Amino acid sequence: METKAIATRPHCLVLSFPGQGHINPMIQFSKLLVHEGVKITLATTCFYSKTLQNVPPYISLESISDGFHNGGLGEAGTFKAYLDRFCQVGPPTLVDLIEKLAKLGNPTDCIIYDSVAPWALDVAKRFGIVGASYFTQNTAVNSIYYHVQLGKIKVPLIESEISLPSIPKLQLCDMPSFFNNCEDDEDLAVLGLATGQFSNVNKADWVLCNSFYELDKEVADWTMKIWPKFRTIGPNIPSVFLDKRIKDDEDYGAAAFKSEEECMEWLHNKPNGSVVYASFGSLVPLDEEQMREIAYGLRDSNHYFLWVVRTSEEIKLPKDFAKKSEKGLVVTWCSQLKVLAHESVACFVTHCGWNSTLETLSLGVPTIAVPQWSDQITNAKYMVDVWKVGIRVPIDEKKIVKSEALRDCIKEMMECEKGKGMKKNAMEWKSLALKAVSDEGGSSYKNMIEFVNSLFTCSQLEVIT
Ligand code: UDP
Repeated sequence: METKAIATRPHCLVLSFPGQGHINPMIQFSKLLVHEGVKITLATTCFYSKTLQNVPPYISLESISDGFHNGGLGEAGTFKAYLDRFCQVGPPTLVDLIEKLAKLGNPTDCIIYDSVAPWALDVAKRFGIVGASYFTQNTAVNSIYYHVQLGKIKVPLIESEISLPSIPKLQLCDMPSFFNNCEDDEDLAVLGLATGQFSNVNKADWVLCNSFYELDKEVADWTMKIWPKFRTIGPNIPSVFLDKRIKDDEDYGAAAFKSEEECMEWLHNKPNGSVVYASFGSLVPLDEEQMREIAYGLRDSNHYFLWVVRTSEEIKLPKDFAKKSEKGLVVTWCSQLKVLAHESVACFVTHCGWNSTLETLSLGVPTIAVPQWSDQITNAKYMVDVWKVGIRVPIDEKKIVKSEALRDCIKEMMECEKGKGMKKNAMEWKSLALKAVSDEGGSSYKNMIEFVNSLFTCSQLEVIT
């Protein structure tokens, strides 16, 4: 990658939680910083760092410990056990890493830490280093969890509707999943992780969020009043799909799964705007009944479909459902951005993870929302009612999306005027996302440059022009 000619570069240590939805945007933001002359060391947990493929050579990869070197979360068994241990061993091993880098003549000027690891800020402060919290979720979702942290929203929620500043009224069914169902230790652990992001955020030197100002101006303005150094710096997606500043950057370069390239060939042979793409991200497991309903819903829509079913999920596919048929193809992983950018793709059946949401908005693809848990529920609400790019598939009394409901939503999107309207709206968001990252005064671009300039100023380094 071409970087600016600079005598000495400030050095950022970027600390990501081990998960595709975390490392993807953080590595992408890292690439932008490298492009502007910043040196980056990317750190994640020991086990996770070994699974990463194709991290770009100009980013050095290091690791800290989560206490589970042979299997990460899988080895821990439960989320609670995992997080408890990570919070114990993460901070001291982050200290070790900073000391090691300093001994190697590579002192750290700033830690850009995943907001779900707020203890990294305490470590940064101990060393007198700048601490920038990086949020991988929607600004409205940030506000909701912040209000829980403040004690202004109680979980489980008793009210059927809540009103928060700069956010449309939200019903219980629009709130992150833990708000009506937070019974076991696992839910409580994840809720603790979500609210813990705000435990010390007021002490962070920067609060960076992978979103763009135009997507949610009201909440962004409100947030900036609370944390003056809050900045939107996204969408952080590979460059060729949006800003085109980094040559050949068509992949995050941090996949823990291997893409099945066959699907691109398959897409090339389909008419424009004819394929339904379906994926539920890198984490969420579907139960067997839900898997069956989705399989039959896709099949019965009678449209072409490309469906990502991770290897660990394949066993749940119905026995009579072919992975390759006249209309459909099931793959274990794909390059989602290449798929969304493909002209044969018409819409995205999505679990509404925040990265998938930003990616689909950035590529102008309307959605059929099938959120599963956590913030996905609120993202779906925004897709449907605020950004108006999607249809939410109704759920039954067991919270299952039935095949008929999915089939009908696909038909509505693919065959009715409503679908055309949503495509038009999605294309408008695409254009706004592009403007936000443009180096001609885009909101996210300006914020990113402001952050970079502060790194040069604080480390008193000089740029050679
Ligand atoms: N993804 C991908 N290929 C797939 C499925 C997902 O590259 O087949 C990527 C997707 O582009 C996104 C990330 O995995 O960047 C998933 O993140 P998201 O926040 O949408 O969901 P999560 O996996 O965290 O639930």
